[in-house]
Amino acid sequence: MAKEEKRKKLPLLALRGIVVFPYVIVNLDVGRDKSVAALEEAMVHEHKIMLSAQKDAAVNDPGVDDIYEVGTVAEIRQLLKLPGGSMRVLVEGMYRAQITDINFGEKYNEAEIIEYKEDKQDDSINMEALTRGVVSQFEKWVKLSKKIPPETLVSVVMIEDGGHLCDLIASHMNMKLEDKQDLLSLIDITKRLEKLYAILTREMEILGIEQQISQRVHKQMEKIQKEYYLREQLKAIHKELGDRDGQRPEVDEYKIRMTKGKYPSRVMEVLAKEVARLERMSPASAETGVARSYIECLLDLPWNRTSKEKLNIDAARDIMEKDHYGLKKVKERILEYLAVRKLSNGKKAPVICLVGPPGVGKTSLASSIARAMGRKFVRASLGGLRDEAEIRGHRRTYVGSMPGRIINGIKTAESKNPVFLLDEIDKIAADFRGDPAAALLEVLDPEQNNTFSDHYVEIPFDLSQVFWIVTANNIARVPRPLRDRMEIITLESYTEEEKYQIAKQYLVNKQMEAAGLKKAQLQFMAGSLQKIIADYTRESGVRELERQIGAVCRKIAKKIIEEEKDKIRITAKNLEEFLGRAKYARNKAEKKAEVGVCTGLAWTEVGGDILPTEVTVLKGKGHLILTGQLGDVMQESAKAGLSYIRSRSEELGLDEQFYEKKDIHIHLPEGAIPKDGPSAGITMATAMISALTDKKVRSDLAMTGEITLRGRVLPIGGLKEKTLAAYREKIYTIILPQENEKDIEDIDEEVREKMTFIPVASMDEVLKYALVDE
Ligand code: ADP
Repeated sequence: MAKEEKRKKLPLLALRGIVVFPYVIVNLDVGRDKSVAALEEAMVHEHKIMLSAQKDAAVNDPGVDDIYEVGTVAEIRQLLKLPGGSMRVLVEGMYRAQITDINFGEKYNEAEIIEYKEDKQDDSINMEALTRGVVSQFEKWVKLSKKIPPETLVSVVMIEDGGHLCDLIASHMNMKLEDKQDLLSLIDITKRLEKLYAILTREMEILGIEQQISQRVHKQMEKIQKEYYLREQLKAIHKELGDRDGQRPEVDEYKIRMTKGKYPSRVMEVLAKEVARLERMSPASAETGVARSYIECLLDLPWNRTSKEKLNIDAARDIMEKDHYGLKKVKERILEYLAVRKLSNGKKAPVICLVGPPGVGKTSLASSIARAMGRKFVRASLGGLRDEAEIRGHRRTYVGSMPGRIINGIKTAESKNPVFLLDEIDKIAADFRGDPAAALLEVLDPEQNNTFSDHYVEIPFDLSQVFWIVTANNIARVPRPLRDRMEIITLESYTEEEKYQIAKQYLVNKQMEAAGLKKAQLQFMAGSLQKIIADYTRESGVRELERQIGAVCRKIAKKIIEEEKDKIRITAKNLEEFLGRAKYARNKAEKKAEVGVCTGLAWTEVGGDILPTEVTVLKGKGHLILTGQLGDVMQESAKAGLSYIRSRSEELGLDEQFYEKKDIHIHLPEGAIPKDGPSAGITMATAMISALTDKKVRSDLAMTGEITLRGRVLPIGGLKEKTLAAYREKIYTIILPQENEKDIEDIDEEVREKMTFIPVASMDEVLKYALVDE
């Protein structure tokens, strides 16, 4: 850039609050005497005047230091005298000039200046880039600020000369005076462009922030307005519905209950919050339902309510004796447990686990315990439970969510120290929805259960005073960690005699009462109850028996009313009239000795049962066919039996290649009941040998035992229950593994005396006793 330096003197016009750039035409209103005089002087000489801004617009008679050094030489285009002596002047900026000195005259001030006339611009790449950068920033700024009409923008961006462009942009923009003066002072065009670029960038940032703020404010305003509008609408709706200003009677009720009940402070806090929230809700919204259930649940829970415990061991013995026949050992164990618990103040006492088949009195024993202790009694069944949420509850975010079974039970008990029976703890299963057993462990653990947290309730509940009793059919299925916390008490199947006594002394009275019958109206004659037990039920406990007696009672009640009778007697003969045909054929075991038929003994969760086994030998190719829902272990046991027979074919008098031309079909009837386990090994082997050798098997005998390939007989489990099953079927001889001989003494004397037990160690012995010698 070439610079033309010329020293000159020109009248000086001090500007207040404005900077005039070269190439720019502006109107100035001039009032001060010295300024007017300066203008008049300029009109005499070439119409040129030096314009420079005052540093402080408030100063009236500026000195050297009050005026910026760099200003603009301008040409006066028009001069207009305004009334009152002031003037309006139209000037056009020409070029920059630097004031070197000021001569303060009487009439006007005169500036000594150096002129800087800008020459043709240099067209270096650097300059080009800067110019473009400035133009694009300026365009963006214009778009964002919307302060400049688009035509102006077009005329500005057409300018190619950087210096000129810079001055025009600066004059159009609404920036601080200091910034404008800075730009004017920069004689060097590159520096000037850079400075402008920086100013533009900063302005853009400021604009961006301004815009964000304005949007935020706008949104807030919108939300406030919307809420106001909705609330007004809601009020109108309440009015229309006749709700007293949106208030609801249940809210008042909740508040009363809150003051009346004894709630811990944490619960009060939550209740207050929830009730306040409920008040704010529209009564029609789905959410109110959720909020109300929650509030009611919190209000209903016995946070501080307990029943007064009175534990007297003698009284407990009386109650249990009165409610239950027999069960001598069980009752004794329970009393011992209660005594120990009383002495240790219930601290860290294990949980009672009652194990036994269905209907042997587990539930009713637990309820007797509750009665003896003066506690409430609740039960929850855990059968088929897979989801942890069944125990811990669902979070309230779920529609229809509820507390889990534990908290629900406590709510029903209306006391925080009930006897709580958890039924069928062996029937829980873990899956992807979490591990219910783990949750149960927490419930039963005295270290943790004082702050049990249900997902629904959310506030921890103290379960430490609950008296837990659990039941199971099969203790082996109870998860190990749970088992470790338990005092296991086993209940056995009842013998027929016991069932008869229970029916006579308890069930008949109970069921007659339930049917509304008086003592004199119904009498079970000799043999009738035994017939119900033998022909209408097949179970270890007395549940079905009770149901059948109940059915008889109801039929009798109806008959008494309809036929206006005083008394009806039930005999073994007229039983069919009330209960229909006998459900169970007496002889499940085959009566006659037959070929290929053998009676085994099974032990299931619901007690023992007999297991009739049939084998038929067919022409074929050596296949072993197994039917009747046999589990894997049982199938393997059958195969082991067959291999044993093959290895002993000679001794058994069989053709060595017998299996090549024959198929052997083993069938266990009552296929709907799954069967498994190794204990039918000797039964299946005996039936196969019988069918292959055509020798009959004794029908008055049953057997149980596992078989090895060498024909040894291995011990089995559940001998007691199996023996009872045989006894029920009137089979009084049992072949059992030698190693099980020691278990015989556990069996009830009544049964034991009637039985003949044949302990065996090998298959040869089994055959010796079981096959009929003809
Ligand atoms: P579980 O819980 O073991 O399945 P329950 O306790 O429900 O069995 O018993 C079923 C029914 O049999 C109940 O009515 C119970 O009172 C009755 N019961 C069971 N055992 C006896 C017993 N020893 N004496 C009197 N009643 C009994």
